[in-house]
Amino acid sequence: MQKIYLDYSATTPLSDLAFNAMKPYFSHVFANADSLYEWGRECAYAVDGARREIASLIGAKPEEIFFTSGGSESDNWALKGIAFANKDKGNHIITTQIEHPAIINTCKWLENNGFEVTYLPVDKYGLVNENDLKHAIKPQTILISVMFVNNEIGTIQPIKKLASIAKEKNVYFHTDAVQAIGYEDVNVSELNVDMISLSAHKFFGPKGLGVLYVKKGTRIDNLVHGGHQELAMRGGTTNTPLIVGTATALKNAISEKDKVRAKVEALRNRFEKRILNEIPNTYINGNSNRIAHNCSVTFVGVESSVLLFRLDMEGVFASAGSACSSGSIEPSHVLKAIGLSDVDAKSTLRFSFSMLTTVQEVDFAVDVIKKCVSSLRN
Ligand SMILES: *Cc1c(COP(=O)(O)O)cnc(C)c1O
Repeated sequence: MQKIYLDYSATTPLSDLAFNAMKPYFSHVFANADSLYEWGRECAYAVDGARREIASLIGAKPEEIFFTSGGSESDNWALKGIAFANKDKGNHIITTQIEHPAIINTCKWLENNGFEVTYLPVDKYGLVNENDLKHAIKPQTILISVMFVNNEIGTIQPIKKLASIAKEKNVYFHTDAVQAIGYEDVNVSELNVDMISLSAHKFFGPKGLGVLYVKKGTRIDNLVHGGHQELAMRGGTTNTPLIVGTATALKNAISEKDKVRAKVEALRNRFEKRILNEIPNTYINGNSNRIAHNCSVTFVGVESSVLLFRLDMEGVFASAGSACSSGSIEPSHVLKAIGLSDVDAKSTLRFSFSMLTTVQEVDFAVDVIKKCVSSLRN
């Protein structure tokens, strides 16, 4: 049976390009990048090249690029690191109601540890209001964190504008750009942000490798204490293969961006149009200029967990809300924040596409979804 993967926002496969670039560093070029002999230097050289490459791809300096274990660690580090390093200035943090759990749950933890967090509401499309942000800033505000692109409904925030509001008030600005990279321009000097989180496995790189961009001069504490790796800011033996694979994948994602976006957007629109035309009582969440690979659909009256299971049996793989919340019975906090009822939030699936998706897959998936929805409604 044909399997159709429509969950690229949850993760992507590793590209052959990245895999091949990584291979030598898993086998014969295996030394510790901190070792001073030839083999170690060979690894350090590769890591150095990867760091420079990544920096230049996002408009940063190499010494502003820090490698972590993933998007979640980057998010944790940005928030906890700024919070504790700037306690003397204030204890207030601003974020939104629709952030990834790596941000929301870190904020909840910070609230239990003496910090105060404002969770900005969003409109029905998932957009943050600039005036809400302005009004939320207090003298004690030390950090604003707003995600670039939402992972459930694909809303793209006006990051440049929001960051400029933070700048005016001299408050640090972080953005989780995990879902944006490869589709939107992510350039740190253009956006004028202080920190950015990235995750390699969302752009055809390896799982387990993240990037935190930290603008030079930012006051931030360590999250992981250890050796002197990463400018003594993040201890742990350097993950040479994954770092090399990440640079390769990022270079490809950014150089192919326009081509990929056009292709994926056309596929997504074809999918969406057929779903709306052929399946009654369905609606799309998010606005029309959301990220190209995202489609969040509410099938009114159909329980998403049951639909997901039926689709799985037919070889179509999608997601209820985000991968991180599937398996949980709580309705998605993102869908609730944009005003969906609990019942509608629990009748919503996310389909996400990539350059590997084909027209045939889209059409086959729609046929299967149509069949499953109508059988569940009867
Ligand atoms: C996937 C994702 C993360 C988590 O990244 P990991 O590398 O899986 O830890 C964080 N934020 C967003 C928006 C994501 O989509």
